Amino acid sequence: MELTKSQKNRQHRSPAAIQRRMNRYPSNWKSVRKQIIARDGMKCRSCGATHSPNNEGLSVHHLDHNSKNLSPNNLVTLCTVCHRRIHEGE
Ligand SMILES: [Zn+2]
Ligand SMILES: [Zn+2]
Repeated sequence: MELTKSQKNRQHRSPAAIQRRMNRYPSNWKSVRKQIIARDGMKCRSCGATHSPNNEGLSVHHLDHNSKNLSPNNLVTLCTVCHRRIHEGE
């Protein structure tokens, strides 16, 4: 079923949706993420998979599952496969 124009607009403007998106990660997350991937040698810490130079395919996982805890001790580089496995195993 297709959404009408007014429904689309309402979804787009919903303050709750915008806040959810913004609260997900702190604003410096992108640069922290890059630092962690560089620290880990651009490799998955679980299986050692390496990825393209632009870091696509690698994720940075929060060991305590708190997306606001950007302590380097809390962050590990994982490939998307290992990352998914961790979250699915919860
Ligand atoms: Zn992996
Ligand atoms: Zn994760």
